[in-house]
Amino acid sequence: MFDVIIAGCGPTGATLAAELRLHDVRVLVVEKETEPASFVRIVGLHIRSLELMAMRGLLDRIVQRGRQRPAGGFFAAIPKPAPKGLDSAHAYLLGIPQPVIEHLLEEHAIERGAQVRRGCAVAGFEQDDEGVTVELADGEQLRSRYLIGCDGGRSTVRKLLGVGFPGEPSRTETLMGEMEVGVPQEEITAKVTEIHETHQPFWLRPFGEGLYSVVVPAAGVSDRAEPPTLEDFKRQLRTIAGTDFGVHSPRWLSRFGDATRLAERYRVGRVLLAGDAAHIHPPIGGQGLNLGVQDAFNLGWKLAAQIRGWAPETLLDTYQAERHPVAEDVLDNTRAQMELLSTEPGPQAVRRLLTELMDFEEVNRHLIEKITAIGIRYDFGEGPDLLGRRLHDIDVKQGHLYGLLHRGRGLLLDRTERLTVGGWSDRVDYLADPTAVLDVPCVLLRPDGHVAWVGDDQQDLDDHLSRWFGKPAD
Ligand SMILES: Cc1cc2nc3c(=O)[nH]c(=O)nc-3n(C[C@H](O)[C@H](O)[C@H](O)COP(=O)(O)OP(=O)(O)OC[C@H]3O[C@@H](n4cnc5c(N)ncnc54)[C@H](O)[C@@H]3O)c2cc1C
Repeated sequence: MFDVIIAGCGPTGATLAAELRLHDVRVLVVEKETEPASFVRIVGLHIRSLELMAMRGLLDRIVQRGRQRPAGGFFAAIPKPAPKGLDSAHAYLLGIPQPVIEHLLEEHAIERGAQVRRGCAVAGFEQDDEGVTVELADGEQLRSRYLIGCDGGRSTVRKLLGVGFPGEPSRTETLMGEMEVGVPQEEITAKVTEIHETHQPFWLRPFGEGLYSVVVPAAGVSDRAEPPTLEDFKRQLRTIAGTDFGVHSPRWLSRFGDATRLAERYRVGRVLLAGDAAHIHPPIGGQGLNLGVQDAFNLGWKLAAQIRGWAPETLLDTYQAERHPVAEDVLDNTRAQMELLSTEPGPQAVRRLLTELMDFEEVNRHLIEKITAIGIRYDFGEGPDLLGRRLHDIDVKQGHLYGLLHRGRGLLLDRTERLTVGGWSDRVDYLADPTAVLDVPCVLLRPDGHVAWVGDDQQDLDDHLSRWFGKPAD
């Protein structure tokens, strides 16, 4: 008997497992593949994900394995630097191969005590009032209190739940692969610059050891059921660039589409969805993995509270209430970005206009805060602007605020030194610090770093502690 079974050990599943283990939840992650993915796709970790990793003491390990790039130039690949003074200690993009980040997250979950079973797929389940019976592809049955589908865009769990996945099917397909080239770098640079002027979805980028990452439109490569061949890549390169750059010795070749879909519900009883299982969209702006990891940070402590028995009645449902609108917004911004990549005259004119508008700092800041997810404000009701937002890392007596959130508990930061977390001290830490760089008297932070309350009144604080952290201990 487990508390939680997670289907899928991708970035979302592994992050969720680690978050649950912070609260001693018994977790089993069931992963269909026997081995982690081997192909190297570089993904970008954006500011909010980097902050969350810092909040759990994981960031140093991750930064060592990636490459920091300036924040900016994400929106529809319009080359604008980030506005000055983004309010984060981690205002950069970290490029990191997806298998590396997946490995680090899985390793972290295992270190925390999660069990990961590879080579077995979730094939069915049935839920009742007490729990879920999960059936694996080999017929074995397992029992848990909750099942979470983190099993990617083609999610078996979502399909078996019968949850709708409305949206748009793929309109354009793109080929992506990793290979060697037969011409000098200068020749490539000149050609790539020339082609980018027409904004085709195309790149040919070196990423070490003589290897290049190649992205070309798949138009004309018709059989979607078959994996693409090196000859397909050569033909597409010749069509766009007039040369195939002498590409040879491919390491892997793949194809992806731009389907955009969002699950109608994130929860049906004891079964929930997170990550690509709940939402898919084109990779423009590099947001999918970030969105899934952030789903996991939102869900983890709430599900743990439910299992530990202290969750207020509606806490688990705030997962969908908070994260569904965030995914809707990401889907919309990727739709907009895809339009801006079109080579048709209309979208090109809109692109030129937006490029001009982004010279206004407010516009540029709005777009970057959207893509990096630091602009998110959950709807916690009326209150000051800080309410519902994430608090950026600030200096406190003990060093950095995020260093105090490693255990995934709530935190009251009290500049008045008058308040107390009383009967919630088993779930919420307390820090009296008049020196904290904050322009409000006190803030109550949830375990995911979002501001749950701002004020200086003990009764008001107690009401909010009850709202988020349940009944006080006797
Ligand atoms: C070309 C490209 C570039 C991208 N670049 C970026 C980027 O820069 N930044 C970014 O944030 N995102 C990027 N993404 C998106 C990102 O890769 C995904 O959003 C991310 O992998 C989703 O993570 P996940 O854990 O939710 O799902 P997945 O990574 O799909 O993991 C799901 C896991 O579940 C397993 N599984 C499936 N079915 C079952 C089953 N029945 N039982 C058990 N296990 C199962 C799978 O084997 C897999 O390991 C990119 C995507 C593409 C295609």
